[in-house]
Amino acid sequence: MDDALVAVMKKHWGYGRFLPLQREAMGCVMSGTDSVVVLPTGGGKSLCYQVPALLGTGPAVVVSPLISLMKDQVDGLKERGVPAARLDSSLSEDERRAAYAGLREGTLKLLYVSPERLLMDGFLDHLRRARPAFLAVDEAHCISHWGHDFRPEYRRLGALKEALPGIALHAYTATATPKVREDVAAQLNLASPKMLVGAFDRPNLVYRTARAGRDLYRIQEVLDRHRGESGIVYVIRRADVDSLAFGLAARGYRALPYHAGMPDEERRRNQDRFLKEESAVMVATVAFGMGIDKPNVRFVLHAGMPKSLEHYLQESGRAGRDGLEAECTLFYSGADLLTWKALLKEAEPEAHAAAIEKLNEMGAYCRGTTCRHRALVRYFGQDLEGPECGACDVCLGELEAVEGALETSQKILSCVLRLKERFGADYTAQVLTGSMERRIIANGHQTLSTHGLLARAPKESVRDWIEQLCAQGYLHKHGEYGVLGVTPLGWTVLKGGQTPRLLKPSEPSARRESKAVRAGWEGVDRDLFDKLRALRKRIAAERGFPAYIVFGDETLRDMARKRPATRRAFLRVKGVGETKMAQYGEQFLALIRDHG
Ligand code: ADP
Ligand code: ZN
Repeated sequence: MDDALVAVMKKHWGYGRFLPLQREAMGCVMSGTDSVVVLPTGGGKSLCYQVPALLGTGPAVVVSPLISLMKDQVDGLKERGVPAARLDSSLSEDERRAAYAGLREGTLKLLYVSPERLLMDGFLDHLRRARPAFLAVDEAHCISHWGHDFRPEYRRLGALKEALPGIALHAYTATATPKVREDVAAQLNLASPKMLVGAFDRPNLVYRTARAGRDLYRIQEVLDRHRGESGIVYVIRRADVDSLAFGLAARGYRALPYHAGMPDEERRRNQDRFLKEESAVMVATVAFGMGIDKPNVRFVLHAGMPKSLEHYLQESGRAGRDGLEAECTLFYSGADLLTWKALLKEAEPEAHAAAIEKLNEMGAYCRGTTCRHRALVRYFGQDLEGPECGACDVCLGELEAVEGALETSQKILSCVLRLKERFGADYTAQVLTGSMERRIIANGHQTLSTHGLLARAPKESVRDWIEQLCAQGYLHKHGEYGVLGVTPLGWTVLKGGQTPRLLKPSEPSARRESKAVRAGWEGVDRDLFDKLRALRKRIAAERGFPAYIVFGDETLRDMARKRPATRRAFLRVKGVGETKMAQYGEQFLALIRDHG
C-alpha cells in the first residue's frame, strides 16, 4: 500500500517521502477507518486525503469552509494532473454542469463542496448515486463551539454519517486543544475514530516578542528585512489597520488593508492580490487569514497582542507553510490587554471570565523568558526535545541577563510583601519605580521603604521582571486582578539562597542567525533563484494563477541548489512531479542552462 501511495505522491506532487503522520493518516483513509487528524499548519494535511483519493474507486468528497480556499485547492490539483472540481455558489452555470457531469460519469477524483451545498435538498441523493469513496472535512474545528472559528453551518455535518450509511469520514484540523479534538469526533458522529495528533512545534518559524514602542519604525525594520517577500501585519482594531496601512504607504511600502468593516469588494480584491502577488504585505485584523493557504508567507508580525495563545499559534502559523524559514515577531504592550478587554466585553459577555484568563496567559507568554517554542507547545500539552530551539529570541541570545538580578529580585519580592500581598503587577511596578499617582498617595504607599527602590529602571522593565519572576515560580498571581504573592521559592530568594534569571533586550550585535535561516539557503545560488522567480512570475501572470501554484519557493530554491541540466535531474528537484515537468520543465531547464 505504501508503495502505491508514494508512487502517486511522486507522480503528481514530486514528493518521495511522507511527512510525519501522513502515512498513518493515509492508511486510515485506505482502510476506511474514521479519523481525526491534527497537524500543525503546513503539516501536509491535504495530501492525507488527496493522495488516497487518486487510488479510490469513487470520488472523494471534501467539505471546506471557504470558497477561496476551495478554488485554490482545485486549481492546484488540476495543475498537478488530478481530476478535481468544486461546487459552491460562485460557479458559473457551465462550471456547475461540468462538475455534475464529472460526478455522474465517475471521472472526478476529488469534489470540493461547501457545507451549505452538501446539505442542500437532493444533493445527497446525487452523491449516493456517485458512490463516493469517503468524506473529508477540512478545518474541522469549525464544528466546535470550543474552537476559535465556530461556524453554525458546520454543525449540520453531524447528519452525514446517517445520510450516507457506511461511508468513512475523516476530519482535519490544526487546532491543538484536546477538548476541540474530542468535540470534533463527537459532533461528526465518528465511529471509534483513530486520533492522529502531530507534533506542534514549527522549527522553521523564528519566534520573537518585544515590547511595543517606536512602532512604525520597528515595523519598517521587519518589512525591510523581507523586501520582495510576502507577509502579514496583524493589528487589533480596524482603525489601526487604516492608520498603519496609510502610514506605511506614505513611506513607500505597498501595504494592503483588510478588515471586516471594509466594503466586500475591496476586501476581496486585496485578499486576491495578497494571494497572487509575490511581495504583498497585508495589514489586517484577525478577520484575515482563515483559509489563507499561501505557502510562502515569510513573516507574520503582530503589532498588538493576540487574544489567546491558540490564536497566536494559528495566526503566526500562517508563516512558512512551505517549510522554509519565516519570522514571527510580536510587539506587545500593557495597553493591548485593555483594548482586548473592552472589545471582549462587547462581543462575548457570557464567555468573559474564560477570555480574560486566555488574555492573561497570552500576556505571560509575551513577557516570559522561557524558549518561545517550548512555551507554545507546552500550552498544548507537548514538549520539545533538547535544551534550545535555536529559533527564538531567548535561545538566540537576543535577551541579555540583567546584572545584579538577585538584588533586583529581592527588591521586587520585598515590595510585594510590603504591599501585604494585596496588589497586582502594574501597581507593584509603579510603587517600585516611585510613582506618585493618586491611588498610591491615597493608599499611603509613597511612604513604604520599597517605594522608588527601582526608580532608575523603566517601569515597563520592572513590569517584565515581575512577570519573569512569576514564570519562574518566585511569585504567584491569584484572583481576577492577578494579586501577587511570594511563594516558598520566593522566600529562598529573599534569604539569598537562589538567584532568579532576569532578562532584557540585548544589543543587536550579540545576536546569532537562526538555524532555519542558515539551512534554508544552504547551497542556493541566489542569482539563479531570483531569475527562476521572475520566470515563475511571468508564467503565473499569463495563466492568472498565484505564483506558488506553478512552483513553490522550496522547489525554486532546490532548483537553484541542484541546477539540473537534464529532464531526469529536473524530476529529482523537490516538489517536481511528472505533470509539472511536462508543463514547465523545458522553460526552467532552458533558464538554468543559460545561467551557466
Ligand atoms: P496543511 O493543510 O496541513 O497546512 P498543506 O497540505 O497545505 O498543509 O501542505 C503544506 C505544504 O507541504 C505544501 O506546500 C505541500 O505541498 C507540502 N507537502 C505536503 N506533503 C508533503 C510531503 N510528503 N513532502 C514534502 N512536502 C509536502
Ligand atoms: Zn527557543
